[in-house]
Amino acid sequence: MISKNLKYLKQSIVKAAKRVGRDPSEIKLLAVTKEQSNVIVTEAIQAGMTLLGENKVQEASGKIEVLGRNGLEWHFIGRLQKNKVKFIFDLFDLIHSVDSFSLAEAIHKKAQKIGSCMPILLQINISGEKSKLGINPLNLPEEIKKIAKLEGVKVCGLMTIPPFNSNPENSRSYYVRLRELRDTCSNLNIPRINLNELSMGMSNDYEVAIEEGATMVRVGTGLFGPRST
Ligand SMILES: *Cc1c(COP(=O)(O)O)cnc(C)c1O
Repeated sequence: MISKNLKYLKQSIVKAAKRVGRDPSEIKLLAVTKEQSNVIVTEAIQAGMTLLGENKVQEASGKIEVLGRNGLEWHFIGRLQKNKVKFIFDLFDLIHSVDSFSLAEAIHKKAQKIGSCMPILLQINISGEKSKLGINPLNLPEEIKKIAKLEGVKVCGLMTIPPFNSNPENSRSYYVRLRELRDTCSNLNIPRINLNELSMGMSNDYEVAIEEGATMVRVGTGLFGPRST
């Protein structure tokens, strides 16, 4: 089931990339393993998945203890509480969901203490929905300039989650907006900042996201089937 889904996903990623003249190898598929058992995640790893995404520190910690980090990259995609920052260095290779200067600063401080540097993406709240995390796009240039000075974090790009809609075309304008924001901020030539990565697109709309420039798509149900909760 997983390997069949994966084969289909890979094919449609290639097709979406080619529709807009992109090189499919620019696009990374993140398997969102939240709420999946270690048995299922192991199946995905055996099918060839190496990038795994989790949205809760504690749940991720249990999985990573068993499955390890060897040959795998674990990405954090959920709400990160400051009191959990101390755990992330032993667990994750990239944090997709840094939604404020103060969270970036907390990560930076811990990183400095242990002589490390954490790659991060900045989550942007394009839709302005109250239920969603993220930096207000209007404040992004100023926030990035401040975050650029924190040596314990390395900003690698932007991430967003559009309002859920079963029609993927409804996501397109949000993804266009994220790409344009990225371009605007890249043109500011802020030292230490390379906004190469655009983490956007989930099971229902990853093809649209790829057409609009996504470099990482985060797919859960499209790979594993519906989550049980
Ligand atoms: C759960 C989740 C996903 C995956 O969602 P699916 O619709 O199952 O593909 C992607 N991104 C984030 C931030 C998530 O929390």
